[in-house]
Amino acid sequence: MNALTTAQVVRPASLADALLQLQVAAAHSAPLRPLAGCTDLLVDAHFGKPVDPNFLDLWPLRSELGGVRWTDAGLELGALCTYAASLADARLHAEAPVLAAAAQLVGATQIQARGTWAGNIENGSPAADGVPALMALDARVRLASVAGVREVPLDNYYAGYRRSVRQAHELITAIVIPHASLGRPGQWFRKVGTRAWQAITKVGLAGRFGWQDGRLLDVRIVAVSMAATVRRCPAMERVLAGASLETLDVAALAAAQQQDVRPIGDVRSDSRYRAEVFQRLVLDAIRQTAATQGAGR
Ligand SMILES: Cc1cc2nc3c(=O)[nH]c(=O)nc-3n(C[C@H](O)[C@H](O)[C@H](O)COP(=O)(O)OP(=O)(O)OC[C@H]3O[C@@H](n4cnc5c(N)ncnc54)[C@H](O)[C@@H]3O)c2cc1C
Repeated sequence: MNALTTAQVVRPASLADALLQLQVAAAHSAPLRPLAGCTDLLVDAHFGKPVDPNFLDLWPLRSELGGVRWTDAGLELGALCTYAASLADARLHAEAPVLAAAAQLVGATQIQARGTWAGNIENGSPAADGVPALMALDARVRLASVAGVREVPLDNYYAGYRRSVRQAHELITAIVIPHASLGRPGQWFRKVGTRAWQAITKVGLAGRFGWQDGRLLDVRIVAVSMAATVRRCPAMERVLAGASLETLDVAALAAAQQQDVRPIGDVRSDSRYRAEVFQRLVLDAIRQTAATQGAGR
């Protein structure tokens, strides 16, 4: 690994060719780094971070790996599906509004035109915007290699800070959102940054807050910039499951938050600010979704 001065870029002719190239390179201990929209990779190179010298340019495979696909099983975003391509899909706005909300807040038009959901996942930033929205919809990551295909739930995809379970010979080929997660009411996305647009998230929340007969029955809570990775919050979800506005136990919710996430302080925010703002984001989501779904007091 060295700062990027010269690079070898392999351009595969097909997906099968890409998988073969990855396999051969990994077997020779010279792994190829997949390259999609390059909006993260170029920033790394620009700031002199160590960058692998060997790349696999996926962009020529847009017809195989691009786009939004609706299947009987649900929604598939190809590995080269950009935020712009997602925002052009009317059904995605209707059935997966949390994805549209996140996509609209990623960078500006230029970044949305090149940046991909798969790149956002694999980049592994705890402040990512695409990852939490996908996690709120129970997304699975489809990994392919010459040996076959496996799918990993996105909330099990990270092994630590910027480390995923993907192996060097594997490629993300799609992100799959199950049919059961689509069209759900109460999909939610909030990003707190230093300004309304073009900001890195200081604290964020993606989730699902589905009410029925005055009770929260469908709950997903995903925390952003609150841990080493974007993280789902199962203890908070348990406290909220079945709660009404009258029975909501705010103290128990705060205790559950401490079990799920313990934010660090860094250049963007201190840990106490993050913890307090995240709790307020969750309470705000509960009250607002209750009001819009007729569960309010
Ligand atoms: C000005 C600017 C603003 C930005 N604003 C935001 C923002 O608001 N919110 C946000 O979340 N991000 C933001 N980003 C970061 C970036 O745009 C996103 O993370 C984007 O989704 C990355 O996608 P990409 O296709 O460009 O990834 P790339 O840079 O091509 O790749 C990123 C990583 O993913 C790997 N990778 C890519 N595709 C695959 C695949 N199919 N299989 C396996 N590994 C793969 C690469 O090897 C690399 O490690 C911003 C970046 C810039 C430069």
